[in-house]
Amino acid sequence: MRVTILGSAAGGGFPQWNCACPNCSRLRAGEVRYQARSQAEVVVSSLEGRYFLLNASPDLRTQILSAPFLNPARPPRHTPIAGVILTSADVDSVIGLVHLREFQPLQIYAAPSIRRILLEDNHIFRVLDRANPPAKWNDVTTNTWFPLGTDDPSSEDSTIRCLLAPLGGAYPDYVSEDLRRTLPPCDAVTGIVLAQGSKQVFFAPTIPAVSEEWKNWARLSDLCLLDGTFWSENELISAGVGSKPASEIGHVPLSEPDGLLAQRDFAKRGRRVLIHINNTNPILDEGSPEHREVRDAGWEIAYDGMSFEV
Ligand SMILES: [Zn+2]
Repeated sequence: MRVTILGSAAGGGFPQWNCACPNCSRLRAGEVRYQARSQAEVVVSSLEGRYFLLNASPDLRTQILSAPFLNPARPPRHTPIAGVILTSADVDSVIGLVHLREFQPLQIYAAPSIRRILLEDNHIFRVLDRANPPAKWNDVTTNTWFPLGTDDPSSEDSTIRCLLAPLGGAYPDYVSEDLRRTLPPCDAVTGIVLAQGSKQVFFAPTIPAVSEEWKNWARLSDLCLLDGTFWSENELISAGVGSKPASEIGHVPLSEPDGLLAQRDFAKRGRRVLIHINNTNPILDEGSPEHREVRDAGWEIAYDGMSFEV
């Protein structure tokens, strides 16, 4: 598999349009220890050159344009993008679907609750039905393997197999109370496990809690792209830009005694990369002690354009 990070920041990006926190201000001032980042987006390709997007970020149009391998291959209309896999109904994970509205047939893979939120509560996503054939929504049962881009479960080794791993967490606050009452908790936030041959990738840009279940997926994977949103539990509060601690927004922070860096019992085998980094996170300052601490602990820090052969 080839895995390319098209965007590595959390919602808002880096810098965020209305944010004057120290990181965003110093980046705007041109300080060289900072690198701009667009909102989290990953694309994966199988051996046969078809591409699948992991989530659909608010920056999706410019991210596709920044990746020449995603150019149309022939007139009049074409894309090597075969589909999109969704991990949640968060605005930052789904709004980019609207960027894909140019009458392009696509496969969308998501837990049934995510489809219901997008199509029943938010009719704008029905714009994808205008394609001929219309976008195909594939209801995915969590913890169940399925082949990407084919309906044949016994398809060849070259097909990427995929699994949505429930991570706990909550549905976004924009979901109506009536609909929320009918949705099972297991669909709310998932990670994506991708396997091809003996190789495995685990993508979890939002990790609401530490659990043995996701640590097992991480342990078995050659590449882990994991939640690097916040450095500390009270980061937004101390920066004066929010009133809630990280855990209440659905992210395990990196530091703290029970944070992500303290989870040393997984991913000894594979590369560990932090993605979905919020613009307030001090690891974005390449000269900071926090940046050094993350690197010394064996983690890599995602940037736009980073890519991996797995
Ligand atoms: Zn900022």
